[in-house]
Amino acid sequence: MLTQQKYLSITGLTGLFNMSLPASFIDRLITSVNIVDVLSRRISLERRGNAYWAKCPFHGSGEERTPSLKVYEETGTYHCFACKESGNAIHFLRKHDGLDFMEAVELLASLVGMEVPKEQIKADLTNTNNINNRAEEIFYEQLKSSEGKDAVAYLKNRGISGDTAKFFKLGYSKKTKPNLYEKLSKEFDQNDLDESGLFGKNDNAESYDRFRDRLMFPIRNIKGDSIAFGGRLLTEKNDQAKYLNSPETKTYKKKYELYGLYEIRKVNKRPESIFLVEGYMDVIGLFQHGIKNSVASSGTAFTVEQLRKILNYSNTIYIVFDGDEAGQKASWRAAENALSLLREDTRISFIFLDSGQDPDSFIAEKGKDEFLNLAKNSVSFSDFFLNTIKQQDDLSSIEGRSMVAKFALPLVSKINNETLKQAYINEISSICDLDFSKLLKGNKDIQNTRSFTEKEEIKKTSNSVIRKSVLGIFMSLIQYPKLASLNEFGSISSDNRFLFVNEVRDLYIEDNNSAASIILEKIPNEKIKNIFGEALVSEINLSEEDAAIMIKDCIDLISQSSDKREEFLREKHQLKELDSSEKRELQQIILKKDKMSLEDTDLIKNLSSN
Ligand SMILES: [Zn+2]
Repeated sequence: MLTQQKYLSITGLTGLFNMSLPASFIDRLITSVNIVDVLSRRISLERRGNAYWAKCPFHGSGEERTPSLKVYEETGTYHCFACKESGNAIHFLRKHDGLDFMEAVELLASLVGMEVPKEQIKADLTNTNNINNRAEEIFYEQLKSSEGKDAVAYLKNRGISGDTAKFFKLGYSKKTKPNLYEKLSKEFDQNDLDESGLFGKNDNAESYDRFRDRLMFPIRNIKGDSIAFGGRLLTEKNDQAKYLNSPETKTYKKKYELYGLYEIRKVNKRPESIFLVEGYMDVIGLFQHGIKNSVASSGTAFTVEQLRKILNYSNTIYIVFDGDEAGQKASWRAAENALSLLREDTRISFIFLDSGQDPDSFIAEKGKDEFLNLAKNSVSFSDFFLNTIKQQDDLSSIEGRSMVAKFALPLVSKINNETLKQAYINEISSICDLDFSKLLKGNKDIQNTRSFTEKEEIKKTSNSVIRKSVLGIFMSLIQYPKLASLNEFGSISSDNRFLFVNEVRDLYIEDNNSAASIILEKIPNEKIKNIFGEALVSEINLSEEDAAIMIKDCIDLISQSSDKREEFLREKHQLKELDSSEKRELQQIILKKDKMSLEDTDLIKNLSSN
């Protein structure tokens, strides 16, 4: 029984998480967090009565005409009536921000000032992380050994102190034996080693070290586990890339990770601003000179996911680029990515260095104050955005202004924040001397013909008797968890199709103090989770007596529907139209009966013979 366990292994319940945390902690966290606060930082919410509504970010292109996502402050949950997505704040962050479970927990905890119990954090790592953590230690020891002297000389030459190297856990990968593979193959399974990203395979299927004779930069996730590495060549070799990165693995997804984020949060959990730079050495060089709030994308161009991630920790972001053409192009891509994330309180701006400069070389040459001056004189997002738009064509001609408007149209549509969107519409209308909002609306109408089919879909599913019955049962349980003890649940316990109803009931029996949003988190099946979510946001208030009646009636309806199902399948059988899964289903229905008639026995024989 879960309640008797001191620690709830969330893994066992949902298969989604690989972390153990006390259930009571998750409970406290979910109930302390205000879901409206979390969501309103990401999507725009509209208050109607007791609830909030938003255009759902999880289906379509986010261009719905009317809001379909309902957010219910009291229960801390949300539900979309179109795509059925529902959940609590943890669920939302995982899905919307692309965080893993622990990252979402860490983030919410930092919002409400709670401390995540640390003793559990190392408990249940995947082997991929274990292997990378071990590799980090080995590389680090090797840097300090005599074999690492070239790597140390390189760092000294770049002005990096031993303390800084230690803080970032820099290391050295050897070129001589015994290599990393020989060391780790004694400790870990071959399969796990294959998945760690640290080794390649030659034509004879023998493993070799991916990183040899390189300065090693461990890429750590927000919890501080090494999940991947970047390696820099110490001496230029024509046939090898200067920088080599781990490939993607189960735990390392490049588009989400930021080099240095774990480290700078060790200095300050919520830095006032964050510099987004391009290279590992930039992060380390800036740190050495006292700028302890920079992070780098790891082995990719900046992605929208990375930007969203750092906006969780600071509202002021400086994106630093080389001033050359590649830098200009990259900065425009970053601006496009930022559009959907803009809010009134986000301050994103750009710093363009002279061609050939990078943050590391700049600060080594000119020092911290000059670098901070760059931030003071940075180009604001809106200036950069509007200037780029203006440069698309000749604003003195009607044709030119139309082209500019056409260029801006899809970009402004990406802005989620209504206030900012309106501000940009006004700005572009005056630049192009036309009513840009009308254009934008026309564009939307074309894209939105789809929403009719969505409405059809909602009708179809909500009309289903079974769905309504299940909803009714869930609504009653949510309001009165102790009704889980009603005997009526037994009458559908053998019907395969409704096992989930009893699974949800069991969750309530195990812990009838659990908040509904916690029960929701524990439901493993997405579809069931979504029906439960719908029940959660429906604001029907029943008396306890009515709720009990509701459960009884709904279970009645469901069990009747299983009689009807049998009837339907029998008819179909007579017409010889049953497919194999329906045959199995009919067999199951009959076999579960307390008493089988002669007719039933014949039918079973018949079903299994063909
Ligand atoms: Zn949706």
